[in-house]
Amino acid sequence: MRGVAVLGSTGSIGVATLEVLKRQSDEFRVVALTAGSNADLLEAQRAAWNPEFVGLVDGKGPGCLIDAATHPDADIVVNAIVGFAGLDATLAALRAGKRVALANKESLVVGGELVLHAAREGGGELVPVDSEHSAVLQCLAGKSESPTRLILTASGGPFREWEPERVARATRAEALQHPTWSMGDKITVDSATLANKALEVIEAHFLFGLDFDQVEVVVHPQSIVHALVEFADGSILAQLGVPSMELPILYALTHPQRLADPGIKRLDPIAIGALTFEPVRTDVFRAFACGVASGRRGGTGPAVFNATNEVAVGAFLQERIPFARIADTLEQVCEEHVPVAASTIETLYEADAWARTRALEVLA
Ligand code: NAD
Ligand code: MG
Repeated sequence: MRGVAVLGSTGSIGVATLEVLKRQSDEFRVVALTAGSNADLLEAQRAAWNPEFVGLVDGKGPGCLIDAATHPDADIVVNAIVGFAGLDATLAALRAGKRVALANKESLVVGGELVLHAAREGGGELVPVDSEHSAVLQCLAGKSESPTRLILTASGGPFREWEPERVARATRAEALQHPTWSMGDKITVDSATLANKALEVIEAHFLFGLDFDQVEVVVHPQSIVHALVEFADGSILAQLGVPSMELPILYALTHPQRLADPGIKRLDPIAIGALTFEPVRTDVFRAFACGVASGRRGGTGPAVFNATNEVAVGAFLQERIPFARIADTLEQVCEEHVPVAASTIETLYEADAWARTRALEVLA
């Protein structure tokens, strides 16, 4: 029986993780739960699961995340926290030799080198929950050869076909209408700007050790093919599944094994019909291009992109700025930033704080 700590248990991924764990109670038990703020739901989860440790960040401060991430009975830490706030827990769990089932892509984007170092140092293992990266891992599992190219798919978000002027004026409610996935607010807005796909390109760069030239993105509105993986001879493998996070969550828990799970919806190719692919409109979705450029520059570049994005998305969700200002702010703050090596946690905290302050100034 493997012990699982679920960080961010009250969120979209956290709740989906507990759904999966409910069906797999012969294999896993929940040893720790943490939430940012939703005390009532956390209390209900405590009653349902009776874990050894429960932490509410609002009540206890962020230290409870480290306690949960390093809990002696936890073999696997599911990091389903949103944003930079998840970084320290990822590092702590990897240093403590845990498997980290990583939904919190921001921790890898911001602290890629440190995260990989923490895993090597502590013997921890990083397994992606993000559906595209889970797809890549599933295509690579059991193979010795490295891929020559990854193609991550993007749904294109709710504004995939909109005229640029209309996208610029899109409202909060429109941005939160995701066509294929049901997720937390922050990542749903990131999917509308396509900043999410830039974060995922950077995530793939670190997870699979590939150059940015080897990671491409294609829009695939049906969200059935999650990634394509090309090998030296030109052959491409893909992973398919209905758009639900439960399969990538389950796989992150069991990799490289697979467990039967009758709760996971089966894919009927005839019912799906056509699968289509189209290019990303990089001129309309400027946050995507800006994010990938920050990844290519490296160092503290991605940390600044991420922090600026968190601030701008927060302001958009509070209906303080129009949609287009998210990309404007990202472009301005990222352009002003001169990246330095991201080799210490202090450097990352400094870059994050600088970008948050600067983004707020730019937005004021
Ligand atoms: P969410 O907003 O639904 O949930 C976030 C969880 O983190 C909640 O439990 C919240 O209480 C907690 N939290 C928020 N701020 C915190 C803080 N400062 N400290 C501690 N805990 C905090 O988000 P989500 O959609 O579940 O996404 C979680 C992560 O998974 C994100 O990094 C997202 O990019 C990634 N992800 C999500 C999906 C999805 O389908 N939802 C898919 C792929 C990747
Ligand atoms: Mg994804």
